[in-house]
Amino acid sequence: MTRFYVTTAIDYANGDPHLGHAFEKIGADVIARYHRMVGRDVHFLTGLDEHGQKVAQTAADRGLEPQAFVDGIAARFQSMWTTLNISYDQFIRTTDATHKSGVRALIERIAEKSPDDFYEKTYEGWYCVGCELFKRENEIEEGHCAIHPTRQLQWTKERNWFFRLTKYRSFLERLFAGRPDFLLPESRRNEMLALIESGLEDISITRSRLSWAIPFPIASSDGEHQGTWVWFDALPNYLTATGYPDGAWRNRWPADLHVIGKDITRLHSIVWPAMLQAAELPLPRRLWAHGFVHLAGERFSKSAGVRLELSDAVARFGVDAFRYFLLREVPFDDDGNFSWERFEDRYNADLANALGNLASRSIAMVEKYVGGVVPTAGQTLLDEADAGDVSAYHAAMDGRDGFLLHEGLQAVWRSVARGNEYVDRQAPWKLAKDPGQRVALEETMAALVRHLARHAVLLAPFMPAKAQALWEQLGAPGTVISQRADRLQAIDASGWNVTKGAPLFPKEREGA
Ligand SMILES: [Zn+2]
Repeated sequence: MTRFYVTTAIDYANGDPHLGHAFEKIGADVIARYHRMVGRDVHFLTGLDEHGQKVAQTAADRGLEPQAFVDGIAARFQSMWTTLNISYDQFIRTTDATHKSGVRALIERIAEKSPDDFYEKTYEGWYCVGCELFKRENEIEEGHCAIHPTRQLQWTKERNWFFRLTKYRSFLERLFAGRPDFLLPESRRNEMLALIESGLEDISITRSRLSWAIPFPIASSDGEHQGTWVWFDALPNYLTATGYPDGAWRNRWPADLHVIGKDITRLHSIVWPAMLQAAELPLPRRLWAHGFVHLAGERFSKSAGVRLELSDAVARFGVDAFRYFLLREVPFDDDGNFSWERFEDRYNADLANALGNLASRSIAMVEKYVGGVVPTAGQTLLDEADAGDVSAYHAAMDGRDGFLLHEGLQAVWRSVARGNEYVDRQAPWKLAKDPGQRVALEETMAALVRHLARHAVLLAPFMPAKAQALWEQLGAPGTVISQRADRLQAIDASGWNVTKGAPLFPKEREGA
């Protein structure tokens, strides 16, 4: 079985999971589930980035030891991912002993393979604790970090270890030229190409006075072991999660796909490949940088506050509807909005009316006209027309042009619309009145069940529980997630016993 090792960014452990974290994890989960359903041996990694000054400060503000604080945060993240049905195989924490020893081994390997790449230098500049980075002039607005206008910049002068990133310019140019799909979408790739061209700077990779960190394994000239910069600690998580440097890490590494946010593409597509190259280790195969979800609509007006509680979003229409809404509404290669108004519109139009209604009326007709048992009947024009949407779905999902999950859902809903039109055109209630139309009636019933069965399979990565409920109502055998999404033409619904269950997406009562 072809393996597929997919990772998310590890979230920074200084607060609770929010919408931006959820968007990425749900998207990566859909990618992982899709690849399982086309027969790959998937390993899905997520986790938490637990070191750094900002975490230590937040813990201190709450009167906690950093470890006790991050233990609590890790539990809350894991609980939220369970609620959102994120099917991760591994949750890495950068305070895990195996991660810490893996990072030390990687740094020592860089020092061994590329001894020239680490050097000490006295550095001074404006440091943003929010970013855990020194900020350049063009990143400072009115004396504050452009990304963290409420935090004070700190003028910091210290002697640190540096990583010679500048040495890797031509290596990175060759990487981007030779592997056009290394970083997608195209917009992000172009940004990084421009950045490489404008010139890279060596980066400071240790901090003095940073105790909540992995001690840098190489002592400074004054004998001190400084704290490792959070990103030099965090980026290797994808590698240390495989067991590096011990065990069978080579069986899993390199990662097939890092799913990340567009704000950390520089770290993942420039710094991380340079680190791996310095260590003479293989690079990840691909990076996908998604955009951001903004809060919009009247209930997020400035005065009413701009937070969205994930638990409220889940409570509104259930987990699957929330997963669907986010990935249908927000393009996975760009930014988009979350608004309660749009969520309600899409729930009613797409889920309750279009799909829910198609399922409930089709199943009711199979019960009424053919005794609930799907007749044996050949392929119809509906199956033929659906084939185009199924192809479009795979093209959006399988990575050939990136991971355009929203386009995958658009393809399914084109098919759902066709199903509703098909019912209206075939008018089974008329066919049922004419004994001479019995064959046409049976063909129509069988075609509708196959059509819905395809929807159940194609939607399983997005809405696992609802897809299974639909699968069961159709009387289909086994579980929907054990089906092959790339073998839908083989679906034969003959003899399935349909059962009308509870509505998949109950309509809201007036005034509710
Ligand atoms: Zn900042």
